[in-house]
Amino acid sequence: MRVISISSVNFSGKIIDSHTHVGAHDGGIYTKRDLDVFVKSELPNKDTIEKMFVSDLDVLHSQKGEYEGNKAILETFKDSNKYELIASCSPKDGDISNIKRLFEENPNKFIGLKFHPDIQELELSDKKYEPYIKFASEKNLPCLFHSQVDLLEGGKLDSNKIHISDPENIYAFAKKYPKIPIVMAHLGAGYNEAHDKTIDVLVKAVKNGDANLYADISWVDIDSGVKDGHKTKDHIIKAIKKLKGIGDSTWESGDQSYRLMFGTDAPLARFKEKNSKKSIQNYNDFVEDIKHAIKTDKDLSKDADKIIDDLFYNNAKKLYLSAQKKNKTSYKKIALIALPITAFLGLIFYFNKTKKGQNPRSVKG
Ligand SMILES: [Zn+2]
Repeated sequence: MRVISISSVNFSGKIIDSHTHVGAHDGGIYTKRDLDVFVKSELPNKDTIEKMFVSDLDVLHSQKGEYEGNKAILETFKDSNKYELIASCSPKDGDISNIKRLFEENPNKFIGLKFHPDIQELELSDKKYEPYIKFASEKNLPCLFHSQVDLLEGGKLDSNKIHISDPENIYAFAKKYPKIPIVMAHLGAGYNEAHDKTIDVLVKAVKNGDANLYADISWVDIDSGVKDGHKTKDHIIKAIKKLKGIGDSTWESGDQSYRLMFGTDAPLARFKEKNSKKSIQNYNDFVEDIKHAIKTDKDLSKDADKIIDDLFYNNAKKLYLSAQKKNKTSYKKIALIALPITAFLGLIFYFNKTKKGQNPRSVKG
C-alpha cells in the first residue's frame, strides 16, 4: 500500500513556468494581461501555476534600454507574487553599468539574466558578454540563453551551418565560466535532431564536469505524433533518462535530471489565441501530454510523481529561487553578525565613558 502524506498531496500540481515573456516579438505584442490568463485560476487539469519567470523582449530587440526596459517590467509586475523577473541583457549595444544600477536600486528583484544571441546577432565568442557573466558570477545568477540548432528541410542537421545559439557554441562559452549555471532555452529549438544534439551536449558537459549546463523544455516536442490520445514527448523523456544515466553503463554522475525544467515561452504563438480559453487549453494539453509520457514510460513510471514534481516545479525553484534566497540570507547573516558586535562595542564605549565620569547620554546633547 502506498501512503501519501498530506504535504505531497498539496505539493502535486504546482507549476513554475521558467520561461515567459512580455514585449514585442515577431509582429506580436505581449503584455502582463496575456500571462494573467494562465495564473489567475487553476488549469483545467487542476494544476496551479505558482510562478512564471518573465523576461522582456524589447530590451533583447534593442527597442528599450537595459535599465529602462527592465525597470518598466518591474513596475508592471510589482503587485503580483505570481511572477519573478529575469533581467534581459543587450550586450550588443548596452553596458553592464545599466544592469548593475538596476540591481543596486532594486535588490533581490531579479532572479537571473537573459541573453538572446540570435536576436542580437552577437556571436558567443564576443568579448561583450564578459562583463555580464562576471556580474552573474558575483551575484550568483543563473543565465538563460536562447539555444537553437540549424536544420535542413526534412529535419536533418545542417553540417555546413552552425547557428549562433547552437548548443555546442553555448557549451564552449559555458566552459569558460564552469561554475555559472547556463540554461539552454528550448533544448536547442528545432525538431528531433536539434533536441538530440542538445541532449548530447548536456550529457557531455555532465560527464566531463567542465560546464554547468541546464535546459528548459519550451517548444520541445510540440508537433509530435499522437499515441493513446496524447502527443508523444520522446525528447523530453529521452533528456530525463539520459540525465539520470538510465541505460548508460558508464554513467557515474548520479541523478542529474534537475538540469531540465519546465517552460513554455508563453504567451508567444499558441499561447495567445484570440480566445483565451483556447490558449489555456493549449497550455493544459502541453502539461498533460508530458505527464502522460512520464507516467507511461517503462523506466520512469515507478517514480513518475517525483519526476513530475521536479520537472514542473522543484528544478526551477532550486536553480533560480534558492540562489536568490542565498543572497537574502547573506544579508541576514551580515545583520546577525553585525548586531552583537555593534552592541558589544557600544557597551565598551559606554563603560569607558562612565569610567571617565561622563554621562554617555550627553554625546547626543
Ligand atoms: Zn523566449
